[in-house]
Amino acid sequence: MRWMSFALTQPQMRARTKSVTRRLGWRFARAGLETLAVSKSQGRKKGEKPEVFGVVRHIDIRREPLFSITPEDVVAEGFPHMTCAEFIAMFCEHNRCDEFIVLTRMEFEFRCENCKQYGTIRVDGMGSWLCASCGCWYDRETGTIEGVDGVNWPPKVGT
Ligand SMILES: [Zn+2]
Repeated sequence: MRWMSFALTQPQMRARTKSVTRRLGWRFARAGLETLAVSKSQGRKKGEKPEVFGVVRHIDIRREPLFSITPEDVVAEGFPHMTCAEFIAMFCEHNRCDEFIVLTRMEFEFRCENCKQYGTIRVDGMGSWLCASCGCWYDRETGTIEGVDGVNWPPKVGT
C-alpha cells in the first residue's frame, strides 16, 4: 500500500477531523485508491519511524485550481479558523506555487481496523473515535483499538 504523508496536519489526522487534502502530485490517483496515512514518508532519518494515522480510501478525486477552494473545503482540510485567502497563502508558501496552480483534490475516509469498513468512524462528544459499524472504539491519544481482542493497531511500520 502506498504511503501518504500528512506532515503539516498531524493533529488533524490524529483527531480525524480532516477529510480532504490537496496535492501537487498524485495525478495518477483514482477514486477507490487506498493509502496508509503517515506523519512523514520521505526524508526520514535512519531508524526514524513515522506515526501511522490510519488506512484511508479516497472516495472523490478531481483536478482543480487552488483558487477555487470553498469555505467548506477549508474546514474539510482541517483549518476551520482560516479563510480561503489564508489557506491559499499558507498552501502557496509551503509548496512554492501560486493560486492558479492546478492540483489534485482528494476526499477520503478512514477505515476501521477491526471490521475493515470505511466511513463508519465517528468522533463522539468526548473526543473518542467510535465505529458505527462494529461498535469498537479507539483510544484518542494512541489510536489503539479498545474493547476488542486480537487486533494489532496501530501497525508497526519499518524504516
Ligand atoms: Zn468497525
